[in-house]
This record gives sequence, structure tokens and C-alpha cells, in this order.
Amino acid sequence: MARRKKIYEGKAKIMYEGPEPGTMVQYFKDDATAFNAEKRAVIEGKGVLNNRLSEFFMTGLTQVGIPNHFIKRLNMREQLIRSVEIIPLEVIVRNFAAGSICKRLGMAEGTPMPRPIVEFCYKDDALGDPLVAEEHIIAFGWASQQDLDDMIALALRVNDFLSGVMLAVGIKLVDFKIEIGRVWENDFHRLIVADEISPDSCRLWDIETGRKLDKDVFRRDLGSLADAYTEVARRLGVLPTNVTHAPKPTLIN
Ligand code: UDP
Repeated sequence: MARRKKIYEGKAKIMYEGPEPGTMVQYFKDDATAFNAEKRAVIEGKGVLNNRLSEFFMTGLTQVGIPNHFIKRLNMREQLIRSVEIIPLEVIVRNFAAGSICKRLGMAEGTPMPRPIVEFCYKDDALGDPLVAEEHIIAFGWASQQDLDDMIALALRVNDFLSGVMLAVGIKLVDFKIEIGRVWENDFHRLIVADEISPDSCRLWDIETGRKLDKDVFRRDLGSLADAYTEVARRLGVLPTNVTHAPKPTLIN
């Protein structure tokens, strides 16, 4: 089979041209990066787990009526998605303080937010994805006021859905990042959730023990990242059976 055309290679994923116009194939790599790619490692099986987990979350979003790019999983590492025009913003929702907000505002890790906080960062690796205000977004034309309102509404719906799903398996959704894209229908566009939803882009803490089950395990050298992600997948019932490090694979009917 002829090799597909690579469209873009990022830190954790590769995008290939899809089989039909308006589609792409998203390939999940095993590479882990943190601190704007200053820290790097290859975590065997991470791509397989994130492919499954992103499929699980995106399918759930579809089931509750939240539009997203996922079409179907193709194999262990690849999924078919709708092509979108990515809005160059990371949309972050915070339920509890962690990571950059702790440093920025001097908050203790784990402090509950008075309500979910939505933040935007401008996607630019060279600048380290800086936090931006709505004012910048509108003035510099990254999104319109309508897009901005829609992005906030979308992000809060995703937060409600994901918080509930995680709570049901004893995990606290501390914060997460999503990316949003435009799909065009004639002269109009609408916004849909794109990229991925996985423990690479969420903070997930065990409710009972506080154990971190997300990329902070890698950022802060807290143990095996593969074990943490496998635990999330196991609790959600989406553990693939042939990931090499999965200790005792269980067959999901
Ligand atoms: N996040 C992400 N990609 C980024 C930056 C942040 O997926 O480039 C996620 C991160 O995993 C966390 C949330 O967004 O779940 C909030 O991240 P924060 O602003 O605290 O940044 P960090 O601590 O990663 O610097």
C-alpha cells in the first residue's frame, strides 16, 4: 500500500491525509514531552492507551450531543477524524488549582475553584503557549466574539461530561485542555472539539488516595506513566488487551 501523505507531526501525534476529502488519520506516538519539550521520553504503549482513551471520551461526547472530530478508530494507534481548521488556542478548564495557576496566583495545589475557570493560551511553542486574555483573542482575530462564547460553552459542557465520567470511576478531574476547530458548511462554520482527550491533557487524581494518574507522573518523576494511564483505562473498561506492560489484561466483552 502506498504510504499516506503526512500532513503534520507534533510532539505526541502524527496527522496523515485521510481516505476521503474532509478526513484525516490521527496516529498516536509513544513520545512523552513536558516543559515545552525540554523533557522527553518514549513510554512504550502510551500511544495505544491514548488512542483508546480519546476514542472512549470522544464517543461519549457524541452520545451526549457534544460535537467532535472523532469518526472511528482504525487500529491500535490510529483513528479517523474530520479535518478541522484548528483555532490556535488551548482551552483550559480548571476545577481545582494545579500546575501553572498555582505558580501564577500563588494557590495551594488542590484548592477548589469557586466555579470552573476557563482560560485560553495562544498555541505557539516558541513563546511557550502564553496565557492570553479574551481581548487579545478578539483584537488579533484568532476567534470572533461568537466563537469565543461558543468555545466557553463547549468547554464547560465537556467539563461536566468528563467530570461525571471520571467521578464514576473514583477519579477527580482537576483540569484539562482541549483544542477546538472550525468545520465549514457552505458559508457558515461551527465549532467542534478536536485533537485528543487523554491523560496527556488532563489532570486526574484518585479520589481516595490523591494518586496522580496523568502526565504529572512524567513531569515530576512520580513513577511509571504507563502504569498510571493503564489504571485510568482499566477503571473505564477500555484497557486494550495487548499492551505489553499491562500486567493482567482483562478481556472486555
Ligand atoms: N495542558 C496540555 N498541553 C499544554 C498545556 C497544558 O495538555 O500545552 C493541560 C495540562 O496537562 C493540564 C491543563 O492543561 O491538564 C492545565 O495546564 P497548566 O496550565 O497547569 O500547565 P502546566 O502545568 O502543564 O504548565
